[in-house]
Formats: sequence, structure tokens, C-alpha cells
Amino acid sequence: MLATATTQKNPYEVALENFDLAANALELEENIRAMIKYPERMLTVSIPVRMDSGRIVRFEGYRVQHSTQRGPAKGGIRYHPNVNIDEVKALATWMTWKCAVVNIPYGGGKGGVTCNPKELSLGELERLTRRYASAILPIIGPEKDIPAPDVYTTPQIMAWIMDTYSMNMGYPVTGVVTGKPIGLGGSLGRNEATARGCFYTTRGSMEHLGIPLAGARVVVQGFGNAGSIAATLFHEAGAKVIAVSDTQGCIFNDRGLEIPAVVKLKNETRTVAGFPAADRIRPDELLALKCEVLIPAALENAITEANAHAVRARVVAEAANGPVTPEADRIFDDMGIFLIPDILCNAGGVTVSYFEWVQDENHLFWEENDVNAKLEKIMVRSFQDVLKIHIDRQVNMRLAANMLGVRRVAEACRLRGLYP
Ligand code: NAD
Repeated sequence: MLATATTQKNPYEVALENFDLAANALELEENIRAMIKYPERMLTVSIPVRMDSGRIVRFEGYRVQHSTQRGPAKGGIRYHPNVNIDEVKALATWMTWKCAVVNIPYGGGKGGVTCNPKELSLGELERLTRRYASAILPIIGPEKDIPAPDVYTTPQIMAWIMDTYSMNMGYPVTGVVTGKPIGLGGSLGRNEATARGCFYTTRGSMEHLGIPLAGARVVVQGFGNAGSIAATLFHEAGAKVIAVSDTQGCIFNDRGLEIPAVVKLKNETRTVAGFPAADRIRPDELLALKCEVLIPAALENAITEANAHAVRARVVAEAANGPVTPEADRIFDDMGIFLIPDILCNAGGVTVSYFEWVQDENHLFWEENDVNAKLEKIMVRSFQDVLKIHIDRQVNMRLAANMLGVRRVAEACRLRGLYP
């Protein structure tokens, strides 16, 4: 998480607060609230790993299934030193509403291991992954719960999970995880999907607000999978990406950064910090840059009541999960900043994960153009669905998206009834 201790907000409290706001706006009956608000299943596991030195170190991991009302649980696995059960519960909850917003037949789940993958060798990372996969194996599966990559987890890590699961089952099960390498049942277009979804929803917002894309100033916080590809897409579309950042530093050029060169440097040095044709700025300065679009694409709590007033963007596109706190939402409302909420903005990733699972289950694979066209259709439709609620009900985009997600899950819950 990004904020300091004084401003840090428990993400699970944020998730519950946002649920209550949506449920109240929908006038949802108490019985349904009781059935859909809280995680259905939470698993905490011990992960002993033999390090290269021969020493055995114990890590802690989690898998939370927030909802299986509309289909199997679905959501990524995060490897990060700050992973804790509340963060995983929050991320699992957001996945439930996210899958419902884009109307794909999944519930929500999330996993994580508290570790610093940057300090692990490849062998240690593989042993940790396989032991974690074994520990959560009883509750995952293509019809039960389907993990995917999240922060600091990769297609290779998904391949190890797929292999661990398959060896235990006795036959290959590609559909147990998504975000796999292409050579192992991965989908073309999955890697770029989150950023594409962010691009389509931002483009829709700009059209709605009458802001031209050509020449628009874009700022990206977090130059990882989601952020670097979003920067590339905006650059290719003729926007001017004026600043980007990662954990090592922030770079700024008011004439626009040459994004392909920044990507190349990031791939070579694992940071953007040394980019020559740019000035170094502080993280707080990056968030306060005057721009048309600000894309927080790192972690939770990047924008809180402590720094929201400084934001000078017209559109804030949440590529990350939970980067803007509820207090900051209210400040943005007062300032007239148009926010594209995470459960809509970054839903392209889970949408193409769904396509990957469909392809795996059917043993039939699609061309990249088909994947991208289907993704665009879903993202454009979902954006319009949320925008309509925003306009008709006069609520902000976060509440509109939560209302749509919660309403769809509530509908499934009502139809299924309460077992037994
Ligand atoms: P990633 O690990 O590829 O990239 C994260 C990037 O953020 C890294 O470059 C890191 O250096 C940077 N970062 C971390 N802390 C930072 C800080 N304090 N300031 C600036 N930069 C910082 O992860 P990702 O997959 O791109 O995920 C980023 C966010 O997007 C997460 O919130 C994740 O949950 C969300 N998301 C990702 C996907 C996906 O498909 N990858 C899908 C939906 C949501």
C-alpha cells in the first residue's frame, strides 16, 4: 500500500463501505445483504520453503472466495510484503462486483502470499509457488475457483500452479488458472487486456466529457503490466504521456515521453528512473501534475484525503485496484473530477481471463483480433451501462458501478435462494 501510516485505510473497510453505499442506493433487502456482503470462504495457509541456503523459511498465504453466486470464484494472486488477510478479502470482494459489472459468469476471489519476490531466487519462487498451490489445491479448480496473476505474479508462476494442480489430479488441467503463457493454453491478448480495458473506458469518458484524445496529457503512476501497456496504448492513440513512475522514481517531460523507449529501458534495467530525456520529479508532484488523464496503476491508497486536493486531472482512471479512498472520492466529486472506478476500469483483465478459460475448456483457440474485438465490445457496453446509472440516478461513477455489480449478484442470489 502506498500511503503513510497516518492516512492508510484498511481496504476491506473500504470495500464494505462501498457495498453499503450501493446496497442503500438499491434499497436492497437485509436478507440479501446478509447473503452477499461477506466472503463465503477464507483459507490461511502456512508455506514452508527450503531456501537456496538450505534454511527453511515459513511464509503465510491466503485464498479468499468472496462469492460463487454467479459462477466459480475468480481473481488473481498477489506476492507482496504487505499482503494480509484484509487486503485479500477486499480484493476478493471487488472481484465479485467487477465480474458482475462486465457480466461474465464468475464470482470473486483473490489470493496472496506475504513475501518479497524481489528477494527470492527463481528456484525459491518456484518452490514457494508450488507449496502455496498445494495448500490451496482443495478449494481451487476450473469449476470452483480460478486464480490469475496480480502484482508481482507472472505467467510463469501460473504455469507452475497449473502443473502442480495437474500432477495432483493426474491429468492436465489448463483451465485451473488464467494468465498462463501462450504455449500452455494462455490467451492471445491477455497480457494487454487490463490496459486495453482501461483505454476503452477512458476513451469513453473523454468522449462523454468532450475531451479530445489527440494531444491529451496522460500521467501514469506504476509502470508495470497495467501501467506500461496503458501508457503505450495512449501514446499510440496520439495522446501525450507526460509522466510515469515506478518504485524507483518518477520521470516527467511536458512535451511527452517517448513511451516505447521508456518501456525498453524498463525491460533492460527494471526501472524507468534513469530515462535520459526527462526530468526527475517526486511522487507527490506526479500526482499533482495538470493533465487530462491520471492513471493510478500501482497499489491501493495512492490517493487519499491527504493528497486528493492536489490532483489536477479531469479524468482519473483506476487501472489499479482501490487506489482512491472513499474520502478522496468525495473530494473528487466536489472538484468535478470524473473517476472511472477500478471494478470497471481494470475489468479488461478478468474479461480476457474469462475468454482464456472458455478457450481452454473448449480446446479451441481464437485469433488475437477476435479476443480484442470481443473485449472492446464488453468494455464499451459495460462503460455505457455504468454511465447510464451515473446519469439516471445522479450518482458518481463508483457508486453507479457498485450498484450495477451488487444488483446483478443480488439477482442471482434471489434466484438461487438459500440452501438448505
Ligand atoms: P505489476 O507488478 O506488473 O506492476 C506494478 C507497478 O507498480 C511496478 O512497476 C511497481 O514498480 C509500481 N509501483 C509499486 N509501488 C509504487 C509506488 N509507490 N509508486 C509508483 N509505482 C509503484 O502489477 P500490475 O499487474 O500492473 O498491477 C497493478 C495494479 O493493477 C494492481 O492494483 C492490480 O491489482 C491491478 N490490476 C492488474 C491486473 C492485471 O491484469 N495485471 C488486472 C486488474 C487489476
